[in-house]
Amino acid sequence: MSSSLAPANPTVRAFETTVTDVDGTSVVLDETYFYAEGGGQPSDRGVLGDTDVVHVREVDGDVVHELAAEPDFAIGDEVTGVVDDDYRTYCMRAHTASHVLYGAARHIFDDLGYGGFGITDEKVRVDFQTTTNVDDAALVELERLVNRAVWDSRDVSWEEISVEEAREREEVAFNVKTEEGVFAESDDVRIVTIDGWDWAACGGTHVSNTIEIGPVELLGRSNPGEGLTRVEFAVGPSAIDHRAELQRSAYEASSALGSNLEELGTVAAKVVDARDELESELTDLKSEVLAARLAQFETIERNGVPWKIGSVAGFDANEVGEAAKEVRGDTDVVVAVGESSAPFIVVASAGDVAAGDVVSEVTDEFGGGGGGSPTFAQGGGLGASADEVLAFLQN
Ligand SMILES: [Zn+2]
Repeated sequence: MSSSLAPANPTVRAFETTVTDVDGTSVVLDETYFYAEGGGQPSDRGVLGDTDVVHVREVDGDVVHELAAEPDFAIGDEVTGVVDDDYRTYCMRAHTASHVLYGAARHIFDDLGYGGFGITDEKVRVDFQTTTNVDDAALVELERLVNRAVWDSRDVSWEEISVEEAREREEVAFNVKTEEGVFAESDDVRIVTIDGWDWAACGGTHVSNTIEIGPVELLGRSNPGEGLTRVEFAVGPSAIDHRAELQRSAYEASSALGSNLEELGTVAAKVVDARDELESELTDLKSEVLAARLAQFETIERNGVPWKIGSVAGFDANEVGEAAKEVRGDTDVVVAVGESSAPFIVVASAGDVAAGDVVSEVTDEFGGGGGGSPTFAQGGGLGASADEVLAFLQN
């Protein structure tokens, strides 16, 4: 009938104790070193007697161990508990890394407050209350500071102090979401200190020195709500794998661009600039070609009015439309039929011949649809080749 002893004794992985309650697969022990889910840290896994522990939670002050099956022990029996070492060690490293990250944020974020935290098997999230715009440069600096604090091998310690005293210490970060839980049962609060780096009210399990955390890899940022910035990171194998993946992709990019890694950004920016310039040149050249093509259209007489008609390929209806308006000049009517996969017609007229009527005449004959004003119209989805449409108009 007590809280978990895990936060105060995070290195204990095996213990013996007495069973005080069994209800189906739920078991309460006289004392336990299993961590009960809370404050963003998931519960421990492990084995109790011969049965797997799948979840641990605190219910009305009792730590309740949820087993995979009904146990073969009873109230009053002595049992051995074994905490899953890999998982707990991961949680301790990930959890302490979140404090290191918060300490790093103290150096570069304005109006910093703690907005929440959570650990999953793959990654860890920390929510910051801050007015700072956390851009790419800020993320890079955060990661640099975190890994530097890990390398600096700072001691991690914890102590119980009065809530009053904790409140007076301005440097102490409080997790607003778990504050109630932290203060619920006593006038004391547990302060976790990373020497010279971070101070937080926290009831989780932590490593005793930052060097135990190993490499920390920032994965990205997002905005979970007004005034909040979420930063996600990984530790351990998923951090190492993520870094390798980024490296691989950076090497691929540098190889494709013929650049070394250090100058990758500059070279990529130059390539993008050059591409934009070429695109703009290409657009100019295409409109010149199109204008020249339309200017060369055959002039025919239809109902006593001169028409320039012809077909174009390799341009879309809008491009051809703009060019037709330019080229019309003194000619009364310009008709361009597009030879693309979905044949279209563009008509620019001085107004004596209604452009919309010409399009209707063609769509009535060949299907498709379209319309426009007396001076400009276009139609699409024609069920005929450009030559067939031109022949129809020349009659
Ligand atoms: Zn903590």
